[in-house]
Amino acid sequence: MKAVLDHVGIAVSDLQASLAFFRDVLGLHVEATEEIASQRVRATFLDTGHSTFELLEATSPDSPIAKFAEKRGPGMHHVALRVDDIEAALAHLRARGIRLIDDKPRPGAEGALVAFIHPSQAHGVLVELKQPAQKVQRFTTVGRHTLGSLELVTLSDGFFALDGGAMFGVVPRTLWEKRLPPDDANRIPLGMRPLIVRDGKTTIIIDAGCGDKMDSKSAQIYGLDRRYHLDHSLADAGLSGEDIDIVVASHLHFDHVGGFTKIGKDGALVPRFPKAKYIAHRAEWEDATHPHERNRASYLQENFVPLKDAGVLTLVDDGTEIVPGVRYRRSGGHTPNHQVLMIESGGKTAVFTADMYPTSVHIPDPWVMGYDLYPMDTLAFKRAFAREAVEREYLLFFEHDPSMAAGYLREKDGKRFVERLI
Ligand SMILES: [Zn+2]
Ligand SMILES: [Zn+2]
Repeated sequence: MKAVLDHVGIAVSDLQASLAFFRDVLGLHVEATEEIASQRVRATFLDTGHSTFELLEATSPDSPIAKFAEKRGPGMHHVALRVDDIEAALAHLRARGIRLIDDKPRPGAEGALVAFIHPSQAHGVLVELKQPAQKVQRFTTVGRHTLGSLELVTLSDGFFALDGGAMFGVVPRTLWEKRLPPDDANRIPLGMRPLIVRDGKTTIIIDAGCGDKMDSKSAQIYGLDRRYHLDHSLADAGLSGEDIDIVVASHLHFDHVGGFTKIGKDGALVPRFPKAKYIAHRAEWEDATHPHERNRASYLQENFVPLKDAGVLTLVDDGTEIVPGVRYRRSGGHTPNHQVLMIESGGKTAVFTADMYPTSVHIPDPWVMGYDLYPMDTLAFKRAFAREAVEREYLLFFEHDPSMAAGYLREKDGKRFVERLI
C-alpha cells in the first residue's frame, strides 16, 4: 500500500490560544475550520505545504478529544496518512493481523473517508488512514440538445486519467491544479464523451471512447474507470450499436477510437458497430499506420486496421461533408491532421472540439497539451477559433472534460469563460 503524510492532528484545549502560536507566531495560514459532528470535535486546518496541521478542539465533554486531553493533556494526537483506496488499505492491514480501531471507513472532515489503526500496533502513535473526497464531480449523464433539425446526444465511455503536467504543457501546476485537482500520482481525471448526431435518417457517432480491449497494466496506468461505459450510455439514450450508420474519427488516438473495434466471438477483432461505415482522415490514417517513437503509444493498430480489413473504412480529406451539415475541419496541432467536427443546422453551429479543447479548462489560448506534436499550430488555430466561437455563439463539446459535456464560450470585460449547457 502507498501512504502519504496528509496531516498531523493536535489536541488543543483552547483554540484561540493555540492559534496565537501556530498562526500568529509560526505564521501558518488557516485553510478551513469544520465541525465533525460524529466526533464531537471542531477541526481547524493550517497549511504546512504538502500537508496540514489539524487543531482539534472538543465540542462536548464526551468527545474522544476531551477524554484524550483529560488523560494526557493537550498535545499531538494522531498522524494521518492519505491512501487512494481505504478499503484496500484496511484489507491489507487485516491480512497482516494488525489491530484496527475502525474495521470500516467512516466519514471524516472535508468529505473524506477515515479509519484509525490502534496505537499499540504503531509503536504508540495513533495513525489515521484517510481517503480524500473526489474533488472533481464526475458526470456521465446522457445529455440531449436540439440544433436546428439535428438531434445531438452526448454519451460517456467512462473516465481515465493522464499526467496533469502533460495535459497542460508549459502551464505551471499552481495554475491548473485548482481547476482539475490531481491525484497522488499527479494524474487528472478525464472523461471520454462520444457524440451522437441524428438527422432523422442517419445516426452518426463521433469518436467512441477507449473501448474494452485495454490490458490491465495499461488500465492501471491510465486509471481507467469504465464501470459506466458506452454500451450503458447508448442504452440510456435509447440506442444500440446496431443503430449507428456512420462512425467518424476526430483522429486515431486510442482514447478516441479504441471503441471502434471489439474482440469477436472467435477472438478476432471486428467492427464494434456492425452496420456502420467508418470515416477517418486520409493523412491521419497514414500517420497512424506509420507510427514513430513519439506517437506509437497512442496509435494502437488493433483499433483501426481491422476496419480496413473488414472493408468498412472510407478515407476522406480536409473539409469533407460527412452528411449535410456535418463536416470535418482541420485544426492540426495535436496531430498534423487532427479534425474538429463542425455541425450546422437552422443557422446554429455546434463544434465537437476533440483534443483541440480537451476540457473546458483548456480555453485560454496558450493552455496547450504537452502531448501536442505541433503546439504552435494548436495555438494559431485556437486564437482564430476562439474569436469565431464567441462571435457566432458556437456550442462547444468537450470530449475529455470530467464534469461538463458542452457549453458556450463567452467573453466579458476581456475575459473568456464557458457557460455550461450540459
Ligand atoms: Zn489525441
Ligand atoms: Zn484525447
